[in-house]
Amino acid sequence: MFDLLIIGAGPAGISMAVEARKAGIDSSKIIIIEKSEEHSYTIRKYYPDSKLVTANYKGHEAKCFGVLCISDLTKQETISYLDKALKENNLNVVYNETVWKIHPNEDKSFTVYTQKNNYKAKIVVIAIGIFGKPNKPDYKIPLSLKNKVFYDVNSFEIRNSKVLVVGGGDSASEYCQYLIQNGNDVTLSYRRENFNRMNEINQKSIFELEKLGKLKILRNSNINSLTEAGGKPVVIFKEQELASKTYDCIVYALGGTTPENFLKALSIEFDGSMPKLKENYETTVEGLFLIGDLSAGAKGGSINYAFNSANQAMKNICQKYLYCKIDV
Ligand SMILES: Cc1cc2nc3c(=O)[nH]c(=O)nc-3n(C[C@H](O)[C@H](O)[C@H](O)COP(=O)(O)OP(=O)(O)OC[C@H]3O[C@@H](n4cnc5c(N)ncnc54)[C@H](O)[C@@H]3O)c2cc1C
Repeated sequence: MFDLLIIGAGPAGISMAVEARKAGIDSSKIIIIEKSEEHSYTIRKYYPDSKLVTANYKGHEAKCFGVLCISDLTKQETISYLDKALKENNLNVVYNETVWKIHPNEDKSFTVYTQKNNYKAKIVVIAIGIFGKPNKPDYKIPLSLKNKVFYDVNSFEIRNSKVLVVGGGDSASEYCQYLIQNGNDVTLSYRRENFNRMNEINQKSIFELEKLGKLKILRNSNINSLTEAGGKPVVIFKEQELASKTYDCIVYALGGTTPENFLKALSIEFDGSMPKLKENYETTVEGLFLIGDLSAGAKGGSINYAFNSANQAMKNICQKYLYCKIDV
């Protein structure tokens, strides 16, 4: 039986395991299960390669309480930092296994099921983030446009194309900057007038690009529907003053959502659309914790937030369950 089983090898899951090592738990007693073939899937898939990874993302203070902490880094530096943390702590990650069920046992332990194996553990920490399913628009996307509609900028090389980016957060800004660097003709559609969800640097960047004539911004624009003409997406806006437009492809940057069904199936109670968390990231199921983006609520998480949530959760786990030592 493992002392600690962690689901998801992103910043939250990796830092959870590192905190457990610092608390004196042997690496043979810790296991991380990751559904993709490498750790930090969200970072690898959704961050543009040229992105600056900011330490104060979403306005979270760039202050860390536990072992791990990042300053502003490149995407590659961030992945290397997490890679090093796994290696230096001799951590065991099982890749290519997706957790689909967690069963509480009578002895208060849990059995965790993947498509290939099952594992028994005293404590389970869920750190699967919110990007398993990126948010999609509420209108229908014609099947014939499947290869023209994306939710990130890395799955497909987009060059010298006419691209519409839809969204108003930091990802939308970063996608626009990246696509422009790659020689694309980019338009950004946002449903509001002001970009309050974007950090200052990202706002400044898109406004400068707009001034230079490199980016068109359609403020207060709401898409009504998508159709196809000659294999390309045609966007029809709700606003009558905006004529329908044809693009080579569309990139949606609409964020992600809590995997509600997965969590509810574990009997975790919810408060509206958010899982109820007790102090220090424990769910309403004893011994079952949620950290990282999953615990960040409507504001959304960041990498340093994920690290801090792991540190707080570990303190609780040590005090209440595993009787390990962690600096308070
Ligand atoms: C485009 C973009 C730009 C961003 N820029 C920044 C930035 O500059 N600075 C910053 O601090 N933050 C940034 N963020 C936010 C940051 O990436 C997240 O806050 C952080 O990754 C959250 O870490 P996490 O470990 O909670 O979740 P994730 O990083 O999402 O990791 C979850 C892991 O769990 C795995 N997983 C999912 N489901 C299962 C399952 N059922 N079984 C097993 N494994 C599973 C996934 O494959 C993944 O590896 C950005 C996010 C995006 C999308």
